[in-house]
Amino acid sequence: MDILITEDLDAPIIRQLCAKYDVVRDGFLWRDPAKLQPVLAGARAVMVRNQTQLTAGLLAAAPKLLAIGRVGVGLDNIDVAAASALGMVVIAPLEANATSVAELTAGFLLALARKIPLADRSTKAGGWDRKGCTGVELDGKTLALCGLGRIGRKVALMARAFGMTTVVFDPYVKSNAPVLMETGATLAATLGEALARADFVSVHSPLTPETRRMFNETAFALMKPGSFFINTSRGGIVDEAALLSALRSGHLGGAALDVRETEPPAAAFGLEQLDNVILSPHVGAFTVEAQTRAMEAVAGDLDNVLSGAPAKNFVNMARPNR
Ligand code: NAD
Repeated sequence: MDILITEDLDAPIIRQLCAKYDVVRDGFLWRDPAKLQPVLAGARAVMVRNQTQLTAGLLAAAPKLLAIGRVGVGLDNIDVAAASALGMVVIAPLEANATSVAELTAGFLLALARKIPLADRSTKAGGWDRKGCTGVELDGKTLALCGLGRIGRKVALMARAFGMTTVVFDPYVKSNAPVLMETGATLAATLGEALARADFVSVHSPLTPETRRMFNETAFALMKPGSFFINTSRGGIVDEAALLSALRSGHLGGAALDVRETEPPAAAFGLEQLDNVILSPHVGAFTVEAQTRAMEAVAGDLDNVLSGAPAKNFVNMARPNR
């Protein structure tokens, strides 16, 4: 088999791949690693989104695998180091989603500040609660960004258009980085310093051992009373129980989450009941444009690799031992 697709992925470009190659598509295979392993063992390339966990063990048991195509950006579901050591190229279109995720974040900023979901729900229920829907302006407020990469940069530029001041915590951005000049953002030395200054906090860092549960009880306690929290990066960066208690106590003014610790969440947890919480089902990259860009980039690169040409959107340096 040439290409295995383990998640619910469809686009004209995928149908073109199916016409050219021997492609196996199973949108549910990601759920069952024991079932996935023998199928993956026969594949020359695999195409995934964020649900398939490509562990070192699974990759080591896939002797024919040349390329992993990740339709999206976060690489926390792929053991990239193991793939590199095994000579597999990991393909991910790193720029494809940034605009869409940044625009969703801007939507969350406005929706939290102006209580748009609450206003919609209460008006549709027959109410006309203008006082209860009183919000705040973004203009003049401070936004803290955790992570100033591709998405964080675009959010900072949008925030500037809203008249916000942006402070950044990103240990990998230097104080003379051009992106700070471009966005007008200032760099904080610690996460705590950024949180203490912010009216809104938005997370745009990857999920790594360093960032796992970085937003915990201590971090939320450092945020200003009444401030708002947004996460469109990865659910594992947030301790949801700590967030719930910071919201229930009234310390935080509201939160918007596109991503969760478990997706989909196993059971109702408490966040769903709060009027000042906005939840979405990991749709940051779900726009027509971002999906088209990502699928075309990944499908094009799988075609390249399978026909002996180099990938353009590679994120590792695979050892060419196959
Ligand atoms: P990127 O790699 O361009 O930027 C990530 C930034 O985070 C970098 O500047 C990096 O230096 C910084 N960073 C790393 N470790 C950090 C730490 N400990 N503390 C603070 N900052 C740290 O990535 P991106 O394209 O901007 O995407 C960011 C994340 O957004 C991805 O890793 C992915 O998990 C998530 N994402 C979510 C969706 C969605 O659908 N909601 C879509 C795309 C990406």
